[in-house]
Amino acid sequence: MNKIIIAIDGYSSCGKSTLAKHVAKALNYRFIDTGAMYRAVTLYMLNHQIDIYNTDAVMDALKNISVSFQINPENNTQETYLNNENVENELRTNSRIASIVSDVSANSVVRRFLVKQQQYMGIEKAIVMDGRDIGTVVFPTAELKLFITADPQIRAQRRFDELKEKGQTTTIEEVLANLKKRDHIDSTRADSPLKKADDAIEINNSNMTREEQFEFAMELVKKKLGTASE
Ligand code: C5P
Repeated sequence: MNKIIIAIDGYSSCGKSTLAKHVAKALNYRFIDTGAMYRAVTLYMLNHQIDIYNTDAVMDALKNISVSFQINPENNTQETYLNNENVENELRTNSRIASIVSDVSANSVVRRFLVKQQQYMGIEKAIVMDGRDIGTVVFPTAELKLFITADPQIRAQRRFDELKEKGQTTTIEEVLANLKKRDHIDSTRADSPLKKADDAIEINNSNMTREEQFEFAMELVKKKLGTASE
């Protein structure tokens, strides 16, 4: 069967990774959460007290960073490794990462370092990748591009619930402020700003369940693959 690249971009905490994971599983494709890669680089910078605004220091640090993904056989989910250490849980729960990841990601040397790896992962297609610049920069010729949006208040509530479930103490106001700040930095940075690719299909999932969004996306996938039942 035809193999394609599916690029999923959008604002923070829109459920991009959840959708990407679900679609990848249904197609038996590889799933890559590029946000986890930027978060892992940020964790390294924090752990090694690198001045993230000093590009020479950042460039030196990147030489020592390897980000990879491995499947956990116990629950069959993909987890992120930083220099062979499993950092999956910390990437989403460490508030220090959330507060500076967008500044780290605005640095062109960091973007070049990760984009090269992401493009390599897609050489054989059969991949669903989510992030901010996948349809515009990483895979501008991806066969299917989705751009996910949702009301900020709804996104903050979803993220708050997720953090609460993981035992984090925070407030909705804090979560909302963080995602608004990240959206602003991500959309206004000079290098690869977050924006909808001209040929991306926008999905506003404010009033959609995960299942509805998945069904909608799969209809688009089937059309691209030429397997839709009309
Ligand atoms: O997707 P997630 O919220 O985990 O991404 C964390 C941050 O990583 C984003 O706010 C953004 O600054 C950065 N990012 C990026 N480009 C991507 C994916 C994430 O700049 N492709």
